[in-house]
Amino acid sequence: MYTVTNPATGELVDEIPNAADEEVRAAIERVHRGYAAWRSRPVAERAAIVLRAAELFAERAGELAAIMTLEMGKRINEGRGEVGVVADIFRYYGERGPDLLADEPLAIRGGEAVLTKEPIGALLGVMPWNFPCYQVARFVAPNLVLGNTILLKHASICPRSAAAIEGVLHDAGVPSDAYVNVFASSRQVPWMLADPRLVGVSLTGSEQAGVAVAAEAGRNLKKCVLELGGSDPLIVLDTDDLDETVKVTATARMRNCGQSCNAPKRIIVLAELYEEFVDRFAKRVTEYYVPGDPANPATTLPPLASKAAADEVATQIETAIRAGATLRAGGHRVPGPGAYVEATVLTDVTPDMAAYHEEIFGPVALVFRASSEAEAVKLANDTPFGLGASVFATDRTRAARVARGIEAGMVYVNKAGGSEADLPFGGIKRSGIGRELGALGIEEFMNKKPIRL
Ligand code: NAP
Repeated sequence: MYTVTNPATGELVDEIPNAADEEVRAAIERVHRGYAAWRSRPVAERAAIVLRAAELFAERAGELAAIMTLEMGKRINEGRGEVGVVADIFRYYGERGPDLLADEPLAIRGGEAVLTKEPIGALLGVMPWNFPCYQVARFVAPNLVLGNTILLKHASICPRSAAAIEGVLHDAGVPSDAYVNVFASSRQVPWMLADPRLVGVSLTGSEQAGVAVAAEAGRNLKKCVLELGGSDPLIVLDTDDLDETVKVTATARMRNCGQSCNAPKRIIVLAELYEEFVDRFAKRVTEYYVPGDPANPATTLPPLASKAAADEVATQIETAIRAGATLRAGGHRVPGPGAYVEATVLTDVTPDMAAYHEEIFGPVALVFRASSEAEAVKLANDTPFGLGASVFATDRTRAARVARGIEAGMVYVNKAGGSEADLPFGGIKRSGIGRELGALGIEEFMNKKPIRL
């Protein structure tokens, strides 16, 4: 069942039954049949449609943001911001796509060869609820320009976002058999992946879902891209504006109520700054992040996406405290029907605690003390994940040097996470396989085919 429950109030808003197996098979057939016509359109036409989608996303930002607020509790302003990023991603691939897909002469030792860049067929997308529009955009915009067709299974708590995204794309001119939304259940995904009419899969979501989808993709010899969880480190080496560093760090950790894969979940501060940083950080988190209605633009701390998510985060906090972690701010479930958890800061988290190793997908920051630059890097790398990381230092060269030692898919200097349409995004270790966005993002489901002349 696809279920909309307002996480701010606990009210059940809508229920949509899962698609029956025959409907799912019919949807697969549509994107399979649609592929031949879509790939044969000139790339300039596909790019123009994607550019039109960028305009429509921008026009419908308010409407899409309101849906996300209702379905998963995103702050209304953050929702508008997210759709702005989506429009930018569609604009980027609409504008740059034709160049990125141009044939490339190959410098071979004798004679001539050219590398052509072709689509591969109909793809399955399996997407999460935390950024209902942005996650879809990262996968869909480059692949539509490339000429692949897409069957999309969205998270079961955001069917209205899924339908609204499909509406934008069809209104922009994407044929109804080149992009299809299907309300499939995750239990149907294994046999969908076994269907030869789908040639690849991209999943953004949890490690467990990634393992399940990668196993099926492997069994069926299909390419998969996985964008999974993270427990990103943010290292503070030194700063000439501690308040600003504290504010930027808190903003990044608490964005989307802490439910961002690449939020700085582990903050590592050099010893000389540590006490002062923790004091100011805890004060900022306590005073600024106040639970409220996500539909109110003045709200700073919205609910988590669901009651289950809030309960899980509260349990992770309690378990860490019972194991000896120190609570410096927040720490509790907010009483009432909404899925609220206080903005929380924990210190003294040690390797024998679960919180040291797992992702906490909510408004919870762990702060660690490091006695040296080398220890900070060691702590940063002591995780099964490897999505993003940040390094803060007054000397950018020093920060960039430290960045090279971090085992992550991407590192930001004097910035806390984020995402840009033209910058590749993705992880290593248990954070995933492959890249989205930028020039690399269009290559994942591409047949890079040399033609020897
Ligand atoms: P999730 O439970 O894994 O769900 C993601 C999607 O996978 C949903 O559509 C879900 O369907 C589906 N799914 C779940 N189990 C599956 C299975 N066994 N087989 C096939 N499909 C399955 O993840 P989430 O809770 O929505 O999202 C949070 C996670 O995503 C966090 O770990 C976060 O870090 C990660 N994330 C990563 C990135 C990145 O770029 N690296 C970005 C955003 C989020 P149902 O909803 O129907 O269960």
